[in-house]
Amino acid sequence: MKKFKEIVVVSGKGGTGKTTFTATLAASLPRKIIADTDVDAANLHILLQPKKSRATKFRGKDIASLDPGKCTNCGLCREKCAFDAVIPVKGNLKIDESACEGCTLCSLVCPTEAIVMIPRFVGDWMISETAYGKFVHARLKPGGENSGHLVTMVRLQAKHLAVENNIDTILIDGPPGIGCPVNAAVSGTNYAVVVTEPTYSGISDLERILLLIRHFGIPCGVIVNRFDIHAENTNRIERYCREAGASVLAKIPHSYEIMESIAAARIPINVCQELDRAVSAISQIISDI
Ligand code: SF4
Ligand code: SF4
Repeated sequence: MKKFKEIVVVSGKGGTGKTTFTATLAASLPRKIIADTDVDAANLHILLQPKKSRATKFRGKDIASLDPGKCTNCGLCREKCAFDAVIPVKGNLKIDESACEGCTLCSLVCPTEAIVMIPRFVGDWMISETAYGKFVHARLKPGGENSGHLVTMVRLQAKHLAVENNIDTILIDGPPGIGCPVNAAVSGTNYAVVVTEPTYSGISDLERILLLIRHFGIPCGVIVNRFDIHAENTNRIERYCREAGASVLAKIPHSYEIMESIAAARIPINVCQELDRAVSAISQIISDI
């Protein structure tokens, strides 16, 4: 089986500059597949500006569908549904799709076979061309469940593309937070880059994401973004990283040039030396894997 170098960029929370940093890496690294696993609120595409997308529907859990023509209104399905997803509407029973958990029980107990399970499509995943390489991304419908599974699908498709194109590096933009989608994005990767900022919430989220990364046994390094907005907190981050065995790879200052690039939907390359140095450090780490 082909060996991949999967590099994931995470943050523990939104708004730290994670996606901007991933875009800068994407624009700087040589041959790689880019994967955006922030399926709930994808935004890497804004900077990568993909063209020629090919979309595939993503199937979530099946849901119950009730045929009123066959229903005798016996009420058994409503009585058995543990999720209150069978509801009366104007004297008839209907399935509340947003409440249905797809357990199939109602379809099994219905004496007239009025309920069948039908597929529910909860989002799409796309393969796109960008100026920086092939890009796999996804969009989960509002309220769509299974975001962890969609993350796994994005990573799987990125691996297929890597094999097809004889590429061994996959750059993953991870979801924010530390929930199920982050687990799906981080597990089994070769290196995690954590982008943080010296705010109190940033420090607390950094501690949580480093615990998660350590749980998976993945080597990691930390980028402190806007390090100069709070010197004392930056010192705390450096101290914590030392104790946690995570190296601080770079400290990027608050930069108007970077902000201007983002506001113009441009990737901030060659606008900040520290940012360029951070990218070089990660390029070196990737080539050493
Ligand atoms: S499939 Fe399960 S959750 Fe959905 S309506 Fe039927 S019993 Fe309720
Ligand atoms: S169990 Fe079947 S027949 Fe009875 S109310 Fe539900 S859908 Fe109608």
